[in-house]
Amino acid sequence: MANAELIKNIILQMAQEIEGNKEYLTGLDAAIGDNDHGINMNKGFKNAVIKINGLGSQSISEIIKAAGMAMISHVGGSAGPLYGTLFLKAAGAAKDKDEIGLLDFTQMLREGIDGVKARGKSERHEKTMLDVLIPALEALEESAVAGGSAKQAFEKALAAAEEGVLYTKTIVATKGRASYLGERSLGHIDPGAMSSCLLIKAIYDLL
Ligand code: ADP
Ligand code: MG
Repeated sequence: MANAELIKNIILQMAQEIEGNKEYLTGLDAAIGDNDHGINMNKGFKNAVIKINGLGSQSISEIIKAAGMAMISHVGGSAGPLYGTLFLKAAGAAKDKDEIGLLDFTQMLREGIDGVKARGKSERHEKTMLDVLIPALEALEESAVAGGSAKQAFEKALAAAEEGVLYTKTIVATKGRASYLGERSLGHIDPGAMSSCLLIKAIYDLL
Protein backbone atom coordinates (compact mmCIF):
# COMPACT_ATOMS: atom_id res chain seq x y z
CA MET A 1 0.00 0.00 0.00
CA ALA A 2 2.66 2.58 0.94
CA ASN A 3 6.38 3.22 1.33
CA ALA A 4 8.03 6.08 3.26
CA GLU A 5 7.74 8.48 0.31
CA LEU A 6 3.99 7.96 0.06
CA ILE A 7 3.55 8.26 3.82
CA LYS A 8 5.36 11.58 3.73
CA ASN A 9 3.14 12.76 0.87
CA ILE A 10 0.03 11.62 2.72
CA ILE A 11 0.97 13.79 5.69
CA LEU A 12 1.59 16.76 3.38
CA GLN A 13 -1.83 16.10 1.84
CA MET A 14 -3.42 15.95 5.31
CA ALA A 15 -1.84 19.32 6.09
CA GLN A 16 -3.35 20.81 2.91
CA GLU A 17 -6.75 19.31 3.60
CA ILE A 18 -6.73 20.76 7.12
CA GLU A 19 -5.53 24.16 5.93
CA GLY A 20 -8.25 24.28 3.28
CA ASN A 21 -10.89 23.55 5.93
CA LYS A 22 -9.40 25.57 8.75
CA GLU A 23 -12.24 28.08 8.99
CA TYR A 24 -14.87 25.40 8.60
CA LEU A 25 -13.42 23.32 11.46
CA THR A 26 -13.11 26.38 13.67
CA GLY A 27 -16.72 27.27 12.87
CA LEU A 28 -17.88 23.81 13.98
CA ASP A 29 -15.97 24.34 17.23
CA ALA A 30 -17.55 27.79 17.64
CA ALA A 31 -20.95 26.10 17.91
CA ILE A 32 -20.13 23.56 20.63
CA GLY A 33 -16.61 24.36 21.84
CA ASP A 34 -14.26 27.31 22.00
CA ASN A 35 -13.77 28.32 18.38
CA ASP A 36 -10.25 26.99 17.83
CA HIS A 37 -10.24 23.47 16.36
CA GLY A 38 -9.22 24.50 12.82
CA ILE A 39 -6.57 26.82 14.22
CA ASN A 40 -5.21 24.05 16.46
CA MET A 41 -5.14 21.44 13.71
CA ASN A 42 -3.60 23.77 11.18
CA LYS A 43 -0.87 24.76 13.60
CA GLY A 44 -0.14 21.11 14.36
CA PHE A 45 0.06 20.07 10.72
CA LYS A 46 2.07 23.11 9.68
CA ASN A 47 4.66 22.18 12.30
CA ALA A 48 4.48 18.52 11.28
CA VAL A 49 5.31 19.49 7.69
CA ILE A 50 8.25 21.65 8.79
CA LYS A 51 9.54 18.81 10.92
CA ILE A 52 9.11 16.16 8.22
CA ASN A 53 10.64 18.32 5.50
CA GLY A 54 13.62 18.88 7.80
CA LEU A 55 14.25 15.16 8.14
CA GLY A 56 16.62 13.48 5.73
CA SER A 57 15.66 10.11 4.39
CA GLN A 58 13.57 8.55 7.12
CA SER A 59 11.56 5.44 7.77
CA ILE A 60 7.75 5.28 7.79
CA SER A 61 7.80 5.08 11.57
CA GLU A 62 10.11 8.09 11.97
CA ILE A 63 7.97 10.23 9.65
CA ILE A 64 4.75 9.45 11.50
CA LYS A 65 6.50 9.92 14.84
CA ALA A 66 7.72 13.37 13.78
CA ALA A 67 4.12 14.33 12.94
CA GLY A 68 2.91 13.09 16.33
CA MET A 69 5.62 14.98 18.19
CA ALA A 70 4.74 18.17 16.31
CA MET A 71 1.07 17.84 17.34
CA ILE A 72 1.97 17.28 20.97
CA SER A 73 4.51 20.08 21.26
CA HIS A 74 2.78 22.76 19.17
CA VAL A 75 -0.92 22.32 19.78
CA GLY A 76 -2.69 23.28 22.97
CA GLY A 77 -6.19 22.06 23.72
CA SER A 78 -7.26 18.46 23.76
CA ALA A 79 -6.94 17.67 20.06
CA GLY A 80 -3.13 18.19 19.96
CA PRO A 81 -2.26 15.57 22.57
CA LEU A 82 -4.99 13.22 21.30
CA TYR A 83 -3.95 13.36 17.65
CA GLY A 84 -0.33 13.32 18.81
CA THR A 85 -1.01 10.07 20.64
CA LEU A 86 -2.81 8.65 17.60
CA PHE A 87 0.24 9.32 15.40
CA LEU A 88 2.84 8.20 17.97
CA LYS A 89 1.09 4.90 18.60
CA ALA A 90 0.67 4.33 14.87
CA ALA A 91 4.37 5.09 14.42
CA GLY A 92 5.23 2.53 17.08
CA ALA A 93 3.20 -0.12 15.27
CA ALA A 94 5.03 0.65 11.99
CA LYS A 95 8.48 0.24 13.52
CA ASP A 96 11.04 -1.47 11.25
CA LYS A 97 8.68 -1.57 8.26
CA ASP A 98 9.90 -0.19 4.91
CA GLU A 99 6.57 -0.83 3.25
CA ILE A 100 3.14 -1.18 4.81
CA GLY A 101 0.15 -3.09 3.52
CA LEU A 102 -3.52 -2.64 4.39
CA LEU A 103 -3.26 -5.10 7.25
CA ASP A 104 -0.28 -3.20 8.71
CA PHE A 105 -2.23 0.03 8.40
CA THR A 106 -5.23 -1.39 10.24
CA GLN A 107 -2.89 -2.51 13.03
CA MET A 108 -1.36 0.98 13.21
CA LEU A 109 -4.77 2.66 13.30
CA ARG A 110 -6.06 0.23 15.90
CA GLU A 111 -3.12 0.98 18.21
CA GLY A 112 -3.53 4.70 17.56
CA ILE A 113 -7.22 4.53 18.47
CA ASP A 114 -6.44 2.53 21.62
CA GLY A 115 -4.02 5.33 22.54
CA VAL A 116 -6.69 8.00 22.04
CA LYS A 117 -9.18 6.03 24.12
CA ALA A 118 -6.69 5.63 26.95
CA ARG A 119 -5.53 9.23 26.89
CA GLY A 120 -9.02 10.69 26.41
CA LYS A 121 -10.73 8.18 28.71
CA SER A 122 -13.23 8.00 25.91
CA GLU A 123 -15.16 5.50 23.87
CA ARG A 124 -17.27 5.44 20.73
CA HIS A 125 -20.70 7.19 20.92
CA GLU A 126 -19.43 10.14 22.98
CA LYS A 127 -19.43 12.60 20.07
CA THR A 128 -15.69 12.76 19.41
CA MET A 129 -13.15 11.85 16.74
CA LEU A 130 -13.61 8.22 17.82
CA ASP A 131 -17.05 8.19 16.17
CA VAL A 132 -15.23 8.53 12.85
CA LEU A 133 -11.97 6.71 13.51
CA ILE A 134 -13.56 3.52 14.83
CA PRO A 135 -16.06 2.99 11.97
CA ALA A 136 -13.29 3.79 9.48
CA LEU A 137 -11.05 1.18 11.13
CA GLU A 138 -13.86 -1.39 11.04
CA ALA A 139 -14.39 -0.74 7.33
CA LEU A 140 -10.65 -1.18 6.68
CA GLU A 141 -10.57 -4.40 8.66
CA GLU A 142 -13.51 -5.78 6.68
CA SER A 143 -11.74 -4.88 3.45
CA ALA A 144 -8.47 -6.41 4.60
CA VAL A 145 -10.30 -9.70 5.13
CA ALA A 146 -12.33 -9.48 1.91
CA GLY A 147 -9.35 -8.54 -0.29
CA GLY A 148 -9.28 -5.84 -2.97
CA SER A 149 -7.14 -2.74 -3.42
CA ALA A 150 -6.16 -0.24 -0.75
CA LYS A 151 -7.97 2.44 -2.77
CA GLN A 152 -11.21 0.44 -2.63
CA ALA A 153 -10.69 -0.15 1.08
CA PHE A 154 -10.25 3.55 1.75
CA GLU A 155 -13.27 4.40 -0.36
CA LYS A 156 -15.32 2.30 2.07
CA ALA A 157 -13.48 3.75 5.06
CA LEU A 158 -14.23 7.27 3.84
CA ALA A 159 -17.92 6.42 3.43
CA ALA A 160 -17.95 5.04 6.99
CA ALA A 161 -16.14 8.15 8.23
CA GLU A 162 -18.66 10.48 6.55
CA GLU A 163 -21.48 8.50 8.13
CA GLY A 164 -19.70 8.82 11.47
CA VAL A 165 -19.50 12.60 11.07
CA LEU A 166 -23.26 12.81 10.50
CA TYR A 167 -23.90 10.45 13.39
CA THR A 168 -22.21 12.91 15.76
CA LYS A 169 -25.05 15.36 15.00
CA THR A 170 -27.53 12.94 16.51
CA ILE A 171 -25.86 12.38 19.89
CA VAL A 172 -25.04 14.36 23.01
CA ALA A 173 -21.38 15.01 23.85
CA THR A 174 -20.13 13.33 26.99
CA LYS A 175 -16.41 14.10 26.54
CA GLY A 176 -14.46 17.27 25.86
CA ARG A 177 -15.69 20.86 25.99
CA ALA A 178 -18.88 20.08 24.07
CA SER A 179 -20.00 17.95 27.03
CA TYR A 180 -20.47 21.15 29.07
CA LEU A 181 -23.40 21.92 26.74
CA GLY A 182 -25.24 18.69 27.47
CA GLU A 183 -28.42 18.47 25.35
CA ARG A 184 -27.48 21.67 23.55
CA SER A 185 -24.69 19.80 21.79
CA LEU A 186 -27.36 17.88 19.84
CA GLY A 187 -27.74 18.74 16.16
CA HIS A 188 -24.12 19.84 15.75
CA ILE A 189 -21.28 18.02 14.02
CA ASP A 190 -18.31 17.32 16.29
CA PRO A 191 -15.28 19.25 14.99
CA GLY A 192 -12.80 16.48 15.83
CA ALA A 193 -14.97 13.94 14.03
CA MET A 194 -14.85 16.17 10.96
CA SER A 195 -11.07 16.65 11.12
CA SER A 196 -10.60 12.88 11.40
CA CYS A 197 -12.79 12.43 8.33
CA LEU A 198 -10.61 14.95 6.43
CA LEU A 199 -7.49 12.96 7.35
CA ILE A 200 -9.05 9.80 5.94
CA LYS A 201 -10.03 11.68 2.82
CA ALA A 202 -6.40 12.82 2.44
CA ILE A 203 -5.23 9.20 2.49
CA TYR A 204 -7.93 8.17 0.00
CA ASP A 205 -7.00 11.01 -2.34
CA LEU A 206 -3.33 10.03 -2.39
CA LEU A 207 -3.78 6.29 -2.95
P1 ADP B 1 -10.26 21.92 22.78
O1 ADP B 1 -11.55 21.21 22.99
O2 ADP B 1 -9.31 21.73 23.89
O3 ADP B 1 -10.46 23.35 22.39
P2 ADP B 1 -10.00 21.24 20.01
O4 ADP B 1 -11.08 22.21 19.80
O5 ADP B 1 -8.81 21.39 19.13
O6 ADP B 1 -9.54 21.19 21.52
O7 ADP B 1 -10.55 19.75 19.75
C1 ADP B 1 -11.84 19.37 20.12
C2 ADP B 1 -12.08 17.95 19.63
O8 ADP B 1 -11.30 17.03 20.35
C3 ADP B 1 -13.51 17.50 19.84
O9 ADP B 1 -14.32 17.89 18.76
C4 ADP B 1 -13.40 16.00 19.97
O10 ADP B 1 -13.53 15.33 18.72
C5 ADP B 1 -11.98 15.80 20.44
N1 ADP B 1 -11.98 15.37 21.84
C6 ADP B 1 -12.09 16.16 22.93
N2 ADP B 1 -12.02 15.42 24.05
C7 ADP B 1 -11.85 14.13 23.65
C8 ADP B 1 -11.69 12.87 24.32
N3 ADP B 1 -11.68 12.79 25.66
N4 ADP B 1 -11.55 11.75 23.57
C9 ADP B 1 -11.52 11.82 22.22
N5 ADP B 1 -11.65 12.97 21.53
C10 ADP B 1 -11.82 14.10 22.23
MG1 MG C 1 -11.67 23.89 20.77
